Amino acid sequence: MLAPRGFVPAQERRGGRQSVQSAQPKVTCGKAGTKNSLGCASDGQKVPKGREKPVQVSGQTDHANDVWIMGRKEPESYDGITTNQRGVTIAALGADCIPIVFADPVKKACGVAHSGWRGTLLGIATATVNAMVAEYGCSLEDIIVVLGPSVGPCCFTLPRESAKAFHNLDPGCVQRLDSPNPHVDIRKATRILLERGGILPQNIQDQNQDLSLCTSCHPDKFFSHIRDGLNFGTQIGFISIRE
Ligand SMILES: [Zn+2]
Repeated sequence: MLAPRGFVPAQERRGGRQSVQSAQPKVTCGKAGTKNSLGCASDGQKVPKGREKPVQVSGQTDHANDVWIMGRKEPESYDGITTNQRGVTIAALGADCIPIVFADPVKKACGVAHSGWRGTLLGIATATVNAMVAEYGCSLEDIIVVLGPSVGPCCFTLPRESAKAFHNLDPGCVQRLDSPNPHVDIRKATRILLERGGILPQNIQDQNQDLSLCTSCHPDKFFSHIRDGLNFGTQIGFISIRE
């Protein structure tokens, strides 16, 4: 199962499973209309029924590292959201970029982030973590992070100058650095940055079930901007705190 403590995929949640604790994150990343075992909530679908005020990270965010702490002034653009409010669903989109979901079952706070390659380099994931620590008093060791499906290094290349930044982060993030367009692993980079930021390695979920499948390589399961061009759908990762 995808879920760490307190995480329930949407399809199971609809089945009425009630045994988890009150900070109940839901992580759903998959393509609409498929039998994706993670559950589905894709473009055009509503984020969980019965959840008021669904909020999404816009797909037209600036691929930077601004985080909106709900209840405070909403920035003009942002790629991360955190909240400890009940009854609100926050969501992150990703159609090759990584939709990331964060939960602290102890302080009952959560977050989402949309992490493309620029946002990854700028540290959107750790910026979201830092907002949870600063705003809700979360402890790093309590925060659970789930990386939704994203494009893999098999299908994602950057110009060498940009790839070098990932290589500087960790050489393992780049393949064939000497080529004009090296292959880049944004998932590995995200995990490395989260671990450097103090998230426990075992609290980062990036492998379970379909999470590690490349979005571009799996048209049966996922949307992909790189594969599908401008007319692309998106995966959604979302979470809410149980009332
Ligand atoms: Zn691929």
